[in-house]
Amino acid sequence: MQATFVCVAMLSSTLVAQERATPLQINFTASAESFRPAAKEYDEIWAAEGSRIVAAMERVTGLRFEPGPIGAVIYEGPSFSGFRERPMQLRASYSSATKRATLVHELGHRLMGDLVPADVDHHSIIFLFVYDVWVELWGQSFADEQVAVERKRTGSSANYDALWTQALALSASERAARFQQFVQEHRK
Ligand SMILES: [Zn+2]
Repeated sequence: MQATFVCVAMLSSTLVAQERATPLQINFTASAESFRPAAKEYDEIWAAEGSRIVAAMERVTGLRFEPGPIGAVIYEGPSFSGFRERPMQLRASYSSATKRATLVHELGHRLMGDLVPADVDHHSIIFLFVYDVWVELWGQSFADEQVAVERKRTGSSANYDALWTQALALSASERAARFQQFVQEHRK
């Protein structure tokens, strides 16, 4: 009995090394009672689309997500990716489409881990794949609408409008090539 158990445990750790044995878990919590419906909506999006989102992002970038679980606090303020055990912060009032788009955007920051040097704008790197992941998951008109939403975003140090113009001046294959070049130069 004991021997069988050990054998199963060894088998499952082998599987973990090859691909995710369990989906990447995100624990959405409302920072206040009034944000509970928004937290529920994020949770439902993740339950329905989390596996697709993770698979598309890992395939397009060639990178692998942290094991998780990732915490996400729903509140009314700018969205942040957090880092490792520091939770993401996600705006409650976004439309359903922008909630999906923002999950990809913020997870994009997390997926880069510490590959991006401090003097490089993180967005100049993640925008090399965020648009293409949006297109793959939800189509080009979705992606174009969400770029328009992000272009209007102000108040942070990042100039989203200029950064999106820069990323979209390249073709999809140029973005992919530039991204892979960046990863090769910065992989530790
Ligand atoms: Zn960002």
